[in-house]
Amino acid sequence: MGGREAPGGGASVHRGRPPGPSIDRDGDTRRPLAAPGRGWLPAGDRPAEAAGGAERLTIAIPARGRLREPSASLLADAGFGPEQPGERALAFPCRNAPVDVLLVRAADVPEYVQDGVVDCGITGADLVLERGAKVDELLRLGFGSCTLEAAVPEEASICTLADLAGLRVATVYPRLARQLLHEGGLECELVQVSGAVEVAPRLGLADAIVDLVSSGNTLRTNGLRSLGALFASEAVLLGRPGGAAGARRLAGILRSVVDARSARYLMLNAPESALEAIAELVPGSRAPSVIPLAEPGMLALHALVPAADVWRLLPRLEAAGASSILIVPVERMLA
Ligand code: AMP
Repeated sequence: MGGREAPGGGASVHRGRPPGPSIDRDGDTRRPLAAPGRGWLPAGDRPAEAAGGAERLTIAIPARGRLREPSASLLADAGFGPEQPGERALAFPCRNAPVDVLLVRAADVPEYVQDGVVDCGITGADLVLERGAKVDELLRLGFGSCTLEAAVPEEASICTLADLAGLRVATVYPRLARQLLHEGGLECELVQVSGAVEVAPRLGLADAIVDLVSSGNTLRTNGLRSLGALFASEAVLLGRPGGAAGARRLAGILRSVVDARSARYLMLNAPESALEAIAELVPGSRAPSVIPLAEPGMLALHALVPAADVWRLLPRLEAAGASSILIVPVERMLA
């Protein structure tokens, strides 16, 4: 588990800063804040107004790496920012809600959730499978997207995934790679490395690699050519099977933010005669709202549109007679 050894023994999550007025009031910065297997911040260290009130929920998010900032901003956008602005501790209570956030290694999140150390957690879908944790995926979060790909040196004669049969494949994700290659009918010799997997072929350690790719720049820089994707990953919210109802409620709240991020609210004015043509252009299943304007023969049309379609939509709306077009972000979306 993540965390250093506490003086009293046993790994734990430490606050790592001088005692302050919020949750670590024991005067000992190395004392455990949350012990493995317990799942809650010490009762006496919780904000008083929440301690006696609603059931508290703990969520683990990555302390470092590419999933840290987007995980923290998702919580902040959902109203679960740290109680102390600019909080950099490894565990902190949130303002507005009885939620405690624990920052741990992304790779440890699946076990923390499985073992009940926390009620839910955010990490990459790839890490959930790699760790073989028995957890439920409560929500796909729309960030941290990447694919697990097999790649070979540019000059290699290997052309397809099928050509990898019987060859040596270096990877940081041995369990996931073995499972996916096996599902594709391929048995390879897996060489487990702990980092810098891209150099394994050049060092003669392997014929190919299996690694996570987002832009493909790292592969190109290292003279590697992708043979194709084995798995598509993104950040996910995890809960324990049959776990806390609070975790499912939190998933609902985060879903409203995740859905809203991919939508925009469109407002425009148009002559009545253009309404049919404009309504046909607006994508999505829901009928737009149509509001009469004070100016005779003119209407306002409001609709939710996918953010990704906006650039295609605007010139078509103008050409169809729309004017005073406004596109605004959406904060929350509930079905
Ligand atoms: P990190 O802590 O920065 O090593 O990243 C951990 C997680 O970030 C991975 O397990 C993936 O879920 C996700 N991720 C997104 N894009 C990439 C990428 N290009 N390479 C590695 N991990 C990525």
